[in-house]
Amino acid sequence: MSDFFSRYTELGEVYLVPQRPQQFEHAQLLLTNSDLITELGMDVDQQQLRDYLAGMSRVENIKPVAMAYCGHQFGHFNPQLGDGRAHLIASFATARGHTYDMHLKGSGATVFSRGGDGLCALGPAVREYIMSHAMRALGVPTTQCLAVLSTNQQVMRQEREPGAVVCRIARSHIRVGTFQLMAMNKDVDAMQQLVELCIADQFDDISSSGEQRVLDFFERVCLRQCALILKWMQVGFIHGVMNTDNTLINGETIDYGPCAMMESFSFDAVFSSIDRQGRYAFGQQPNIASWNCGRLAESLMLLMDDKDAALERFSGILSQFAEEFNEGYQQMWSNKLGLLSWQESDQTLLSELLSLMQQNKLDYTNTFAALTNSLQPTPLPGYEIPEALADWTRKWRRRVGDNNLSAAHAIMQSVNPAIIPRNGMVEHFIDEFNLAKHSDEFTQWLHALKTPYLYQVYPAQWLATMSNEQTYQTFCGT
Ligand code: AMP
Ligand code: MG
Repeated sequence: MSDFFSRYTELGEVYLVPQRPQQFEHAQLLLTNSDLITELGMDVDQQQLRDYLAGMSRVENIKPVAMAYCGHQFGHFNPQLGDGRAHLIASFATARGHTYDMHLKGSGATVFSRGGDGLCALGPAVREYIMSHAMRALGVPTTQCLAVLSTNQQVMRQEREPGAVVCRIARSHIRVGTFQLMAMNKDVDAMQQLVELCIADQFDDISSSGEQRVLDFFERVCLRQCALILKWMQVGFIHGVMNTDNTLINGETIDYGPCAMMESFSFDAVFSSIDRQGRYAFGQQPNIASWNCGRLAESLMLLMDDKDAALERFSGILSQFAEEFNEGYQQMWSNKLGLLSWQESDQTLLSELLSLMQQNKLDYTNTFAALTNSLQPTPLPGYEIPEALADWTRKWRRRVGDNNLSAAHAIMQSVNPAIIPRNGMVEHFIDEFNLAKHSDEFTQWLHALKTPYLYQVYPAQWLATMSNEQTYQTFCGT
């Protein structure tokens, strides 16, 4: 596999610590994303993949490393983070010239493990595989999962659970926390290099120089975050642990630990067992993304001479974030409602809908899917508009009008998924994997999740909301 290489090496071993992944001699590949291997043009067969994930062989001439970073976790700064159970094993470039990192998670303890076991349980590994697959198909920027390995060893969590290693592919693993570490170290050279690495990799049309270059870079990162959160909101995704160490500079979703899809609509929806204050609730996500960008700006201050002037410039870009978001957000709702242009009175129409949805605990996905389906020339069964929305729907139909019905329908269909990875289904399949059961239904369901905007008749359980959503909890301790 000649086209693998090491990346970020110029940053030095303070930021990339050579570490060997643990060896799992009896491990077996459990899930392989063949579509992704083909799409990326990777020259890797099943045996090689198994051996890399199991720590049994190393990509030729490449030293695996654990990356160092800091992070604000739930608002509190933690200076000593880093890959505590992950290894960057190699990078590679696709034929189109895009560079990717190949990262293992659950691959054993590192210098950053802080008492953790460095391992990953099978359940969270399967969740990451499913969620990243589904999110990508939903059109959300995301890291992807190349494979899941069953280690055939147990890990100790609440109880003993089967262990796994995830192989994650990302355009880059540089996060806000990486910049925070360099700022903490007052390492101007490393930060300058990091900015250049990110620009070359992700934002290579930035042509300015000096401090303007840093500002332009910052602005681009903000725009990526803004676009990402809009996509999350569009599909009802709740990340659950938006710490700065989980915020990638490239704007991809990373760390599918305690994530969930919102079912009953509420801006306050939160499922993570440790998020008791609702810091990362569904409706808080834009504020938190902007807050995280603020932490990046603080770090980048290291590269600015006139701190007062820089503060003003960074603040200006952050205000732009809010404006950009609000504009995109209105467009998002406009599209979800099939409105071809936004009128002032549409705000009332939208607010009424959201209140009714919240009061009646209506499912976010199914409600918008039902409205979308109702505009089809021959609506399909299985997407009924809830009774509680009958009056509102009449108003909405009058607003949509009859002239441009097919355009309204097309726009709604492009943003309102018919099928998402429902929490109940994810848990059901995790249970199956834990029992070493591999049903045909899983394969069929994953296949359906590849085309989430395709309206057809699905098995009822694939669209069903969780009966116990009020008590559903997700966990970080993966
Ligand atoms: P997360 O919120 O999942 O990104 O994790 C936060 C930090 O905890 C990261 O630096 C992880 O590497 C570390 N971590 C999480 N789980 C473990 C584990 N089982 N063993 C060692 N480190 C861990
Ligand atoms: Mg993380």
